[in-house]
Amino acid sequence: MREYDKFYFGGQWASATSVERIEVVNPATEAVIGTVPAGDRGDVESAVAAAKKALPGWSATSQQERAVYLRRLHEKLTEKVPEIGALITAELGMPIKLSQRIQVGLPVAVLDSYIKLLKEYPFTEQIGNSKIVKEPVGVVAAITPWNYPLHQLMIKVAAALAAGCTLVAKPSELTPLNAFVLAELVDACNFPPGVFNLISGYGPVAGEALAAHLDVDMVSFTGSTRAGRRVSALAAETVKRVALELGGKSAALILDDADLEAAVKASITSCMLNSGQTCSAQTRMLVPEALYQRAVELAVKAAKSFLPGDSRDMQTKLGPLVSAAQRERVVGYIRRGIKEGAELLCGGEERPEGLLIGYYVQPTLFGKVTPEMTIAQEEIFGPVLCIMSYRDEEDAIRIANATDYGLAGGVWSADVKRAERVARRLRTGQVDINGGRFNLLAPFGGYKQSGNGRELGRYGLEEFLEIKSLQF
Ligand code: NAD
Repeated sequence: MREYDKFYFGGQWASATSVERIEVVNPATEAVIGTVPAGDRGDVESAVAAAKKALPGWSATSQQERAVYLRRLHEKLTEKVPEIGALITAELGMPIKLSQRIQVGLPVAVLDSYIKLLKEYPFTEQIGNSKIVKEPVGVVAAITPWNYPLHQLMIKVAAALAAGCTLVAKPSELTPLNAFVLAELVDACNFPPGVFNLISGYGPVAGEALAAHLDVDMVSFTGSTRAGRRVSALAAETVKRVALELGGKSAALILDDADLEAAVKASITSCMLNSGQTCSAQTRMLVPEALYQRAVELAVKAAKSFLPGDSRDMQTKLGPLVSAAQRERVVGYIRRGIKEGAELLCGGEERPEGLLIGYYVQPTLFGKVTPEMTIAQEEIFGPVLCIMSYRDEEDAIRIANATDYGLAGGVWSADVKRAERVARRLRTGQVDINGGRFNLLAPFGGYKQSGNGRELGRYGLEEFLEIKSLQF
């Protein structure tokens, strides 16, 4: 049991003004594993004041000085990979083997990438008689979700601190414990007080107070499109900068000359990762009409290998969903899919056999899904895949683009040039060609209602910079 009763403000652990507490539940056991304070407006005031006070000093540090602090944090975080991996598995339910590699390994690598970038990034540039100076945007509020909690937070922390900004982090109320461990590590690194501040709390209270705050210069938000809209509206009052990383409904577009077996297997893996709770999950599989039957057979076989089980077991590939509410939501979509006439190929709303406790959902595949169905349009955020057939390449591109989202996708073809041609016509921020690997230096972000702005690498750093021109 981890019980935190203080927030981290101004380099100190400070008592919350709010007395309300948030219980953190292990989704595999349904047991309470920790508590954190539910911060209110008063707590947000203290956090923002600490960040504001620290800004002049931190923004005046050199690139090299900032790199030294971030390197210390990297060392401390690296030592904690097994502990934080187990903690995130307990908070979120992701199987332990994946949790260590992805939930902690990735943020460690992201932090390292920003330390390296700091060594070479040109904070000044000459254009004719002008010197262009790139300066930190100021006080940043980082509001993050639960599905890759430390990764989402680290993307913002590493880039914002590297840019010279100070920051207030507000992690998701469902998985806040790992952020408290991060604050302990920041504290152990002796960062100047107020450079990194942590508050926990609910979105409509702490999140909204941050988004609306006059002294917050930028909100970097990752979460649902619904909450992103609200954050944007509140931030508009003070014309602060807003970066939004929102939901997705990405397509795996399998062309008629693709290696069908490899494509189907990889698409199922993308969809089932983290029990389908991945913003860039490829949750719509588009196959040519002539290959539909064969694709369905391969997909069902692949899905059945994702047996739900105990997240602490090294063999488990599919854990529970994060919460009872998330399970209800996903089951609701499964019912809706059946009602709207999609064909249930495997899985369904019943609990997986033998798992009477925990928020588990069977890997579920729907066939004969058409673009206007709810399950083809809305983000389900569970282990649910929609298989759709198309007539020709044009039809496939039309279907792939026919949602409000535009985050990611995949294109499969034996002809790489053809795949690239198709990928360029998808209105999404990322496209993996023939299962191209995730690149943590490549910009990540959405078109349309998947958000605006880009994270990771150089583009991610530039989100946190203001640009000034000096004429000589
Ligand atoms: P959510 O929107 O419910 O919550 C995200 C964060 O926003 C939490 O910290 C929450 O407390 C806060 N929040 C909620 N309402 C708020 C409000 N009115 N004002 C200010 N803050 C508010 O999302 P979630 O359920 O935690 O995460 C899942 C969603 O995140 C999915 O839609 C997923 O696709 C998206 N996501 C996107 C990316 C990306 O990079 N595009 C990455 C991960 C997750």
